[in-house]
Amino acid sequence: MSSRIFYTKPSITGLEQGYAADAVANGWGARCYEYIVRFERDYAAWLGSEHAIATSSCTGALHMGLAALGIGVGDEVILADTNWIATVAPIRHLGATPVFVDVSPDSWCIDVADAERHITPRTRAIIATHIYGNLCDMDALLDLGRRTGVPIIEDAAEAIGTQWQGRRAGSMGLFGTFSFHGTKTLTTGEGGMFVTSDPVLFRTVQTLSNHGRVAGDTRQFWPEVLGFKYKMSNVQAAIGCGQLERIDELVARKRAILAGYRQRLSGLKGVRLNPEPVGTVNGAWMPTAVCDAALGITREQLLAAFEAADIDARVFFHPLSSLPMFEDQPSNVNAWHIPTRAINLPSYHDMEEADIDRVANTLIQVVRGTEEGL
Ligand SMILES: *Cc1c(COP(=O)(O)O)cnc(C)c1O
Repeated sequence: MSSRIFYTKPSITGLEQGYAADAVANGWGARCYEYIVRFERDYAAWLGSEHAIATSSCTGALHMGLAALGIGVGDEVILADTNWIATVAPIRHLGATPVFVDVSPDSWCIDVADAERHITPRTRAIIATHIYGNLCDMDALLDLGRRTGVPIIEDAAEAIGTQWQGRRAGSMGLFGTFSFHGTKTLTTGEGGMFVTSDPVLFRTVQTLSNHGRVAGDTRQFWPEVLGFKYKMSNVQAAIGCGQLERIDELVARKRAILAGYRQRLSGLKGVRLNPEPVGTVNGAWMPTAVCDAALGITREQLLAAFEAADIDARVFFHPLSSLPMFEDQPSNVNAWHIPTRAINLPSYHDMEEADIDRVANTLIQVVRGTEEGL
């Protein structure tokens, strides 16, 4: 009797448990920031960024970063229509206007030419979300940023372990953000990280993140500006320290699972998995299968087949512009069409080869079944 295959599950070992237990027992009073300081320092060093600020979520990190750039009412921020709601919510919370552009059919990430077409005098930032671990075209984006003066921001929540020419995703834009939600490759339960190599931006976000209190200010309880409260706790940071020591192992397993799917599905025409173009390393957060339109396979067929096989089926992100709080923008054809013929595949650390077989075979049967029906 085989059991249900979950799409995600964290990998927590004695290392994380030991640090967490230490933080719970001893991480108070004078030692209440020890794990936070260590997690921020080690994360920045691992990523190749000058500064890191641990937060309670990636959403909070984005909110503070956008606020630090002075983005507000009347400003526009460009982002891909294919995104999680967390990437757009802070834009709206600041009173600014999100501008949704289409994605490339190859990377499922922001279409840089479409982003350029949507730049106006009000554009204050472009958010590059590395979807499912796939890298945005960073050379083209950074070049666009240089030509227009518009900052490029990386939402790297899904791209821990992803690289471009040896540089890690999240370290290339003006700032980057990460999520350590329970479904992400590195987890602290809930949590996130703001990273930047810009000293001024770092100090601004540091102040914002502490309710507007300036670091080093000797006055007690003196907020200089209105800030935020998006801090990570010491106990969460302790778990993060353990996970960060294991980051190479965690990413390697994600990549091995994606490679396992790639190998098993290699004979299947018309089904694409997360790409890994020359010069990139894909962190493979979420292995995803996209069927060519010509196959005629629908998301509903895929969901039904996975459910019948007792496998978690997770839908490809709905286009943000299709959600109730925004206006439909079906002209973003790739963002609107890809999700109707795609599915995320399970990829948790302790997944066994037999589980990968079962998922791959389920997908193969749907595709072969459709071919026979033609
Ligand atoms: C998970 C995720 C977030 C949100 O992270 P939280 O830590 O839950 O705020 C933001 N952006 C993307 C692309 C994500 O996948």
